[in-house]
Amino acid sequence: PVRTRVAPSPTGDPHVGTAYMSLFNLAFTRQQGGQFVLRVEDTDRARFREDSEAQLYDTLAWLGLHWDEGPDLGGPFAPYRQSERLDTYRPYVERLLEAGHAYYCWCSKERLDQMRDRQQKTKQPTGYDRLCHGKTREERAELPGFSETPVVRMLIPDDVPLVFDDVIRGKVSAPKPDDQVILKADGFPTYHLAVVVDDHEMGITHVVRGEEWISSTPKHILLYQWLGLEPPKFAHMPLLRNTDKSKISKRKNPAARLTWFREQGFLPEALVNFLALLAYPPQQDAEGNDVEVFTFEEFSRTFDWAKVNPIGPIFDLKKLEWLNGVYIRQLEVGEFATRLLPYLYEAGILGDNPSLGELGRLKLVAAQIQERMSLLTEAPALVGPFFVADDQLEIQEDARAQLNADAPAVLDAAIAVLGDIDDHGDGVLGTGGGWVAATIEAQLREAIVDGLGIKPRFAFGPLRTAVSGARISPPLFESMEILGKTSTLSRLRSLRD
Ligand code: ATP
Ligand code: GLU
Repeated sequence: PVRTRVAPSPTGDPHVGTAYMSLFNLAFTRQQGGQFVLRVEDTDRARFREDSEAQLYDTLAWLGLHWDEGPDLGGPFAPYRQSERLDTYRPYVERLLEAGHAYYCWCSKERLDQMRDRQQKTKQPTGYDRLCHGKTREERAELPGFSETPVVRMLIPDDVPLVFDDVIRGKVSAPKPDDQVILKADGFPTYHLAVVVDDHEMGITHVVRGEEWISSTPKHILLYQWLGLEPPKFAHMPLLRNTDKSKISKRKNPAARLTWFREQGFLPEALVNFLALLAYPPQQDAEGNDVEVFTFEEFSRTFDWAKVNPIGPIFDLKKLEWLNGVYIRQLEVGEFATRLLPYLYEAGILGDNPSLGELGRLKLVAAQIQERMSLLTEAPALVGPFFVADDQLEIQEDARAQLNADAPAVLDAAIAVLGDIDDHGDGVLGTGGGWVAATIEAQLREAIVDGLGIKPRFAFGPLRTAVSGARISPPLFESMEILGKTSTLSRLRSLRD
């Protein structure tokens, strides 16, 4: 059975690359009926960040990219955190030392730095010069630059195979490595040893990871050979790039952090669709037309490695925004309203447990704004006015500045004509009465546009300002209907005074 894994390092906010790798791993794994493992590669103690792991679970779960085994779920190959597996790695190191494929190295950091400087100055190839190779501890201790606690290095042979088969790229060739450290002075394995041991022990059949690991793969294949193990298949995904072709990175791009997308108001299903499109062609409909909007299930069902494009995909946020708008409009309105809740809570508009009345009103407002939004973060400004007391409504500066000399007459006329509308079931939509958008609109047009001869643009601007406090709001007459007669009149009078 197919077994894949994603193996993030908990070194900070989860990287969008981790979601992208997980998605391609999962599309293949689900299609094949296999298992997907989440393994935490926390051997780099200097870069370790405590809250990283929880954020990782949270963001991957938000995206619906679910794993079958992991530190939180357990599984047949637990533990799934490398720092808890140190005893597992040790015997492998012993075997490599005994067979002469690995050796101890006591060189101090200072000596290694000097060596590298010298190599760079004299334009020699950089890499460990094997000073320690073939020496006992005592022999080495006689020489300068000795450090008490040794590391263990691989003895890379001259004829190390550098070409390997990649599921996406076919034959790939990597540069010759130097004598890589596999066990550090702190007793932790390096990535190279741990990844090989764990992929083997966990029965991983396909290693799907970023192309920056291509240069490491010959080292890994060598370790498999030396240990007499069957290597997995390798698929190196193209890295995500900026329009200038540089790779997107957390240091330069806010959009490299997975949490950023949620903060910005992207829907997880839109982000998943977008990440798939980055390295994969659109689906085809029955007539052979491109279909860019598709679900994970559709992607997984037809997934084929041969279609993955190995050329660095450009991370185009405009396209993601477009997709997000498409997904927003596809949501059932009640579901759309539910998706807005965390953003409204964050903005202090609704509490964490809104009442049925609040939810009912939210759904009415949601139906008015769903068509026009591309990010969920646009919601608080549009929804907020429906959830403040009339005397608390804030009139924004730009909206007030727009009011012209006609505004008082417009407000007076509106107050008079709206006051006459029958309002049985005020504020409760669909309960009859005359307080419905169509009636409100007809009455206002008659009184202001026809009656006062004021153009619609000037006729309705002041009314919009009065009810929403803003220049841009959900449709005016529907907003009045949702607010109800009492509230609407009270807001019109406040602006008039
Ligand atoms: P930076 O992105 O600034 O280098 P970082 O050092 O935290 O931040 P890495 O630790 O290098 O990022 O990478 C974390 C994970 O994200 C790795 O699995 C890596 O393959 C993946 N990754 C990093 N950059 C990209 C990218 N541009 N496209 C796809 N995946 C990436
Ligand atoms: N820990 C590595 C990373 O953060 C895993 C690379 C791999 O998948 O082999 O990218």
